[in-house]
Amino acid sequence: MVEQTLKTALTDWERDGLERALRPQSGPQGRIITVEGRRVLNFCSNDYLGLADDRRLKEAAAACLKEEGVGAGASRLVCGNMASHHRLEEALARFKGTESCLLFSTGYMANTGIISAIFGRGDIIFSDRLNHASIVDGILLSRAEFTRYPHKDMAALEELLKSASGFKKRGIITDGIFSMDGDLAPLQEIVALAQKYECLVMIDEAHALGVMGEDGKGLAEHFGVEDKIDIQMGTLSKAAGCFGAYCCGSKILISYLVNKARSFIYTTGMPPSIAAAAQKAVEIISKDSQPLRQRLWQNAHLMREGLKQRGFDTMDSQTPIIPILVKDSALASAFSRRLYEEGIWVSAIRPPTVPQKTARLRLTVTAAHTREDLDYVLEKFKVIGKELNYASYKSLQRD
Ligand SMILES: *Cc1c(COP(=O)(O)O)cnc(C)c1O
Repeated sequence: MVEQTLKTALTDWERDGLERALRPQSGPQGRIITVEGRRVLNFCSNDYLGLADDRRLKEAAAACLKEEGVGAGASRLVCGNMASHHRLEEALARFKGTESCLLFSTGYMANTGIISAIFGRGDIIFSDRLNHASIVDGILLSRAEFTRYPHKDMAALEELLKSASGFKKRGIITDGIFSMDGDLAPLQEIVALAQKYECLVMIDEAHALGVMGEDGKGLAEHFGVEDKIDIQMGTLSKAAGCFGAYCCGSKILISYLVNKARSFIYTTGMPPSIAAAAQKAVEIISKDSQPLRQRLWQNAHLMREGLKQRGFDTMDSQTPIIPILVKDSALASAFSRRLYEEGIWVSAIRPPTVPQKTARLRLTVTAAHTREDLDYVLEKFKVIGKELNYASYKSLQRD
């Protein structure tokens, strides 16, 4: 009976071009990866600085593996609080210029844990409509009043703030770089509104750490508002090339989370070798990532301008995340499949990850891509765009 229901759902997704499936890979991450036994150019990774397979990170992990072993053995509050955990927390707090820092196992767990610890019944949260799913889940878990504002619409946010009275705590939560659109949160306006209406501000720097800001600290650095943001969350799984996440903020905030964040308390500490690798990544980002970041932004610029020149709608992308709006889910899948046949991996992103009728290809460039890689991709986009008649879909209505 259950099987039949599940099968019907799967068949429906397949019919609508919405089914998702895993592809077997081998070997490490990089600009070229091996998928289903074939080498393909990788244009969908969040490994922006190419650190996931960096020798220095691997050596740091290997050395720690010898020193501290494989597993943390228990929750950090029991006996799994290892030396490499606090070393990484100290390095992150120093780098981000905050009093304190707390590690989480993943970005997903950081968001669900932080939000549900800080907010509860009687509070209200204002959340950008395009915030990451882990923020949405954190808000649902918190049981606070959940108010979505239209994407980056500050006038709408102000109206909502004005009319929200009688709540105990109020908070605005936003992605820094929006993960499916590649545009930036208007942080200066957000912190100004937060001050005016006495709100907490929480930012998710998942895609911005190592990517934004003069020193790679993220979007808060880019906009010069680091001291006006109460909760700076970010991940170690993207530009840092590792795994895990952090929350940077005041000592009081961190002590509170240690006592209250369920996804921190009721789970095993991160493997120490991963913490050691991440510490190396933070060191590289803070000391010598400027040339890498320059390369990354140059590649992003070349790719985005090249796609626009060839008639593709890259939405409001301002970063190395470049969506190519296709609207139709089946066409997005077909386009991705054709690119794959030509040895290029760009994933199709479809509802419910993005709103209805905004299916897209999501292309990401990294510092590791070469000029030849970019030229090859641009050429294939042109050819496949013609073949699949992209231009006629471009004029379809968005919702
Ligand atoms: C990827 C991502 C996360 C989740 O981070 P993981 O470490 O992969 O769990 C959270 N927020 C945003 C905005 C992300 O892009």
